[in-house]
Amino acid sequence: LEEKIISLEERVPKTYPEVNFLNYLQRKRILITGGAGFVGSHLVDKLMLQGHEVIVVDNFYTGRKLNVEQWLGHENFELIHHDIVNPLYIEVDEIYHLASPASPPHYMHNPVKTIKTNTLGTINVLGLARRLNAKVLIASTSEVYGDPDIHPQPETYWGHVNPIGPRACYDEGKRVSESLTYAYAKQENMQVRVARIFNTYGPRMHMNDGRVVSNFILQALQEDVISVYGSGDQTRSFQYISDLVEGLVTLMNCNYSQPVNLGNPIEHTINEFATIIKTLVGGNSKIIHVSEVEDDPQRRKPDISRAKKYLNWEPKVDLNEGLKKTVEYFRQELKKLKYTSRR
Ligand code: NAD
Ligand code: UDP
Ligand code: UDP
Repeated sequence: LEEKIISLEERVPKTYPEVNFLNYLQRKRILITGGAGFVGSHLVDKLMLQGHEVIVVDNFYTGRKLNVEQWLGHENFELIHHDIVNPLYIEVDEIYHLASPASPPHYMHNPVKTIKTNTLGTINVLGLARRLNAKVLIASTSEVYGDPDIHPQPETYWGHVNPIGPRACYDEGKRVSESLTYAYAKQENMQVRVARIFNTYGPRMHMNDGRVVSNFILQALQEDVISVYGSGDQTRSFQYISDLVEGLVTLMNCNYSQPVNLGNPIEHTINEFATIIKTLVGGNSKIIHVSEVEDDPQRRKPDISRAKKYLNWEPKVDLNEGLKKTVEYFRQELKKLKYTSRR
């Protein structure tokens, strides 16, 4: 035991990124549900660097401790393993509610759980915000527009969603989440924010996430075939993670309470996107077409006039620049995998 104590004393203390100093009036206690996930962990970084106290609540369904490893042990940071479907009693000033699987294979894996997380989970978050009189931001999605028949999609569009299809657990879950938010806001006079997030990519996306960005990059890096679902004429608009995080924090801090689209309006067909990634990564992958997926939205592009007007926000990161960073991240992840499988 003595030896152990001596070795503990000699241990080199962990070093952290330098955080800004805020006095007690400026510093907020901020809860991020789903903070160990892709988007959440980048938001953690931003708010920690600004000097706030950050509490992450996550059940690690799709998130990883590794995503917030850089802050474990920091005096301003706390990580709580908790499923938001169950009530949560803590004290905070502000809440970002991000807990929910986000990629189609993940949210379809356990559709009932996805619905519970977005309904019961959101009720618990709103109940918590109500008790504390805390401002709350809900992460909604472009999926509330379903397979849209209006293009591009403004926030005033009510959507075109199949209520019983394979995507319903997520789409309708998020729609109820929004309805709950505005019902609470009206009934309980609460301060709410709703971000309708469009396709976002960047480092820390889950390797087996199944979304198009991670799939195509991993396939290109491993010289596998690049699998386009269906014709590939369907479109998406891709936003880099740092743009989204900037938008989320700006939305929380502004005084606009209606839903706001956060996305990059530059639209590509999935075929174009496959070629862009193949060219960027290099290698000899062949682009092939496999069967289309059910209820796949055919066109998606945000109308961001509202974000420009009320938040003075628009995306800054160019697709090639963002993709280069993401490719580099996956390259390193693959190296780590090879190293651990050899041991
Ligand atoms: P992600 O899967 O990486 O992160 C979600 C996090 O929530 C994970 O850490 C997961 O473990 C946690 N979680 C899931 N269910 C939970 C529960 N019941 N209790 C506690 N924690 C739970 O996904 P992401 O891409 O970071 O998405 C974050 C949020 O943004 C989600 O609400 C998602 O719907 C929304 N969103 C993301 C995108 C995108 O392109 N990434 C687009 C639209 C909306
Ligand atoms: N809740 C919570 N933490 C709190 C307050 C409430 O998790 O600090 C949950 C609790 O489970 C409750 C739900 O939020 O059922 C909704 O709370 P609300 O006050 O709106 O309604 P209640 O059901 O308590 O009347
Ligand atoms: N997609 C594809 N190949 C893949 C994964 C996805 O062609 O390996 C297509 C998918 O059919 C959809 C688009 O890419 O049209 C975006 O899919 P993703 O799952 O990334 O997000 P979402 O459909 O939720 O926008």
